[in-house]
Amino acid sequence: MALKRVLSGMQPSGKLHLGNVVGAVNNWLKLQEEYDSFFFIADWHALTTHYEHTENLVQNKREMMIDWLTVGLDPEKATLFVQSDRKEHAELHPILSMITPLSWLERVPTYKEKMAQIQGRDLSTYGFLGYPVLQTADILLYKSDIVPVGIDQLPHLELAREIVRTFHHVYKKEIFTEPQSKMTEIPKLTGNDGRKMSKSYGNALFISDPEEEVRKKIMSYVTDTARIKKTDPGSPENCNLFPLHKIFTNQEKNNEIVESCKNASIGCVDCKKIAVDSVNKYLEPIKEKRREVEALKDDIVDMYKQGTDKARTIAQGTMELVNKTIRI
Ligand code: SF4
Repeated sequence: MALKRVLSGMQPSGKLHLGNVVGAVNNWLKLQEEYDSFFFIADWHALTTHYEHTENLVQNKREMMIDWLTVGLDPEKATLFVQSDRKEHAELHPILSMITPLSWLERVPTYKEKMAQIQGRDLSTYGFLGYPVLQTADILLYKSDIVPVGIDQLPHLELAREIVRTFHHVYKKEIFTEPQSKMTEIPKLTGNDGRKMSKSYGNALFISDPEEEVRKKIMSYVTDTARIKKTDPGSPENCNLFPLHKIFTNQEKNNEIVESCKNASIGCVDCKKIAVDSVNKYLEPIKEKRREVEALKDDIVDMYKQGTDKARTIAQGTMELVNKTIRI
């Protein structure tokens, strides 16, 4: 029996950080063992919010290609490619846009939330509003059965299903699979300021950060703000640093930290030092692997080209069917 197909993408916003790794990529590593997996670098999507800053795009894509291979995405197991290398995404997008009511896009919760969050940029563009339609094109192009999503992305997938139904209704032919969500439990990793770890917030710990950089960043974490003095009992649940321990410090030590924090027998500085060691220990083999991958030079591009070729066969097949159905 053919494996179900799963598809997911990531915007090339620079080097991979720990939030990306624990939030998405670690999940992809499992998926590539169980599904016919398609993972793409979503460079067109990056333009929806950063259209005026393309100066680093080429470099960012290169970094992402290296980082993906570094953390274990395997071109022999998964189809890895860059979105803009398959022009069919841009061919299907306007076709789906024609049948998508504006009101559906305006009510997507992330539209207004992101507008409010991202300051200093004019996001009242067609591209930003139509972002979920491009996402739908990505999904349908490869006849994806499953899309891994966090809870905030669920409305996008529901929109994709509604677009599928509308297409089938308008053109009287059922050619697409309605994609299903695979809910992913995403461990929340916070940066030193307590916000979600993100490159755009300037609070990210990158997998390629040297040890000293990791130390500096972790030592700058704001911890439990209610814990003024070392003798005050702390609360790991209210501490921005603690998620790092939860993920990177071993269970036994973790339990010890919880106890010692609550009974004030450990200070935040010492606790941070333990986190520095845990994260550096976790990153050590990753950085070693990154050096090996970097040494592959042009072979890296070839590995992604292999994915692009596989993606081409499927994407072109879908577009032939779409164009025949709509009589283009
Ligand atoms: S001791 Fe550790 S867990 Fe407790 S508040 Fe300080 S940094 Fe956070």
